[in-house]
Amino acid sequence: MRKILIVGAGQSGLQLALGLQSQGYEVTLMSNRTADEIRAGRVMSTQCMFHTALQHERDLGINFWESQAPRIEGLGVSVAAPDSSRAVDWVGRLDGYAQSVDQRVKMAGWMETFAQRGGQLVIHGAAVSDLDYFSRTYDLVLVSAGKGELVSMFGRDASRSPYSEPQRALAVAYVHGLGPRPEHPDFDAVRCNLVPGVGELFVMPTLTTSGRADILFWEGVPGGPLDVFQGVKDPSEHLALTLELMEKYTPWEYARATRVELTDANGTLSGRYAPTVRNPVGRLPGGGLVLGVADVVVANDPITGQGSNSAAKCAASYLASIVEHGDQPFDETWMRGTFDRYWDTAQHVTKWTNAMLGVPPEHVLGLIGAAGELQPVADRFANGFNNPADFEDFFYDPEKTAAYLASVTGA
Ligand SMILES: Cc1cc2nc3c(=O)[nH]c(=O)nc-3n(C[C@H](O)[C@H](O)[C@H](O)COP(=O)(O)OP(=O)(O)OC[C@H]3O[C@@H](n4cnc5c(N)ncnc54)[C@H](O)[C@@H]3O)c2cc1C
Repeated sequence: MRKILIVGAGQSGLQLALGLQSQGYEVTLMSNRTADEIRAGRVMSTQCMFHTALQHERDLGINFWESQAPRIEGLGVSVAAPDSSRAVDWVGRLDGYAQSVDQRVKMAGWMETFAQRGGQLVIHGAAVSDLDYFSRTYDLVLVSAGKGELVSMFGRDASRSPYSEPQRALAVAYVHGLGPRPEHPDFDAVRCNLVPGVGELFVMPTLTTSGRADILFWEGVPGGPLDVFQGVKDPSEHLALTLELMEKYTPWEYARATRVELTDANGTLSGRYAPTVRNPVGRLPGGGLVLGVADVVVANDPITGQGSNSAAKCAASYLASIVEHGDQPFDETWMRGTFDRYWDTAQHVTKWTNAMLGVPPEHVLGLIGAAGELQPVADRFANGFNNPADFEDFFYDPEKTAAYLASVTGA
């Protein structure tokens, strides 16, 4: 039986661990926190996942919270006008629903399942020196430790990383008591509110430790008026700031948030990071090789809500590559080929996310505006969050955008 070590128990590490376990591999999972510590800890993400990523979980039979989590059936975009009214406002319908399950709930639950099924769970914050030792005793070491210190083993790929600094300051608050969206109270949707030059507010339902809740998520241009959460330690102060900024920049969202309260004292998060693609193979001081997974190798800004989706897709792709490789050695050629197979999908996510971080060109503004008049355009844009490769056909190139809009209007 092949022995595999997975370092880091997030979306990608746990999904891979459970997938390999079900195929008979001998899996050791190393986590720097216990399930209880994760469950009682700070929120980590907004983790909205779309159909394709959710299907990977269904395929493994680990969609344990699907019936409890709100079904997100639409994705809406609003653009704030200078007078804080809405210059654009539409909602596209998703072909398959999206869901957000608080990672505190999901990772803690998956970790317990892994251990109950006989998996070897080691609670230890791994250092490079540990991996050096372990790489000799396992057939394969996978590093799925997110954006933490272990990324230092994987060199930055400058050709695929256009930004060397964070492009947004992030501030998340989980709340109870948010009112329904007045336009479409009949179905749940992610709301993307764009405030030109300032940042974005995302609002979405989730399933958290205390049941259904909503997430208020500001992404602020660094140094701008939304970049005010650094150093705010008091969760009530964080929420008050969130609401103050909503009242000023997105009053239509504030109108339904006047009665919210935090879900719990750990229901806020702030921070920032530079989007980075890395060399997927890490070489240890003793010569052993490790393969990076998900955020370790491709970390995009959450502006497009893709990281957990990508982590699920990466785990599914790596699982297939491992199983198909049978008993052959997991050497560098295999590692690079395994990453390249994932990059076929991930490159579209990175390209689109990095484009969304920049100032939108005229034809993209036109496309977003047209979606307000043409429902098929709104629907296609919304479903692009499930399959970002589709943006190649109508988003980047002004001629393709014009041809697509003409095809919809029949012009
Ligand atoms: C504010 C915010 C909002 C987001 N919103 C969305 C969204 O709506 N949709 C979406 O798809 N994505 C979103 N993301 C991104 C998403 O959360 C991540 O991309 C995803 O969780 C990455 O999964 P992963 O498995 O690579 O790593 P992680 O989920 O980061 O898991 C890594 C795990 O490894 C552990 N670890 C770290 N170092 C060590 C060590 N040395 N030893 C042992 N364990 C270690 C960590 O504690 C953690 O449990 C968001 C991210 C942020 C910050």
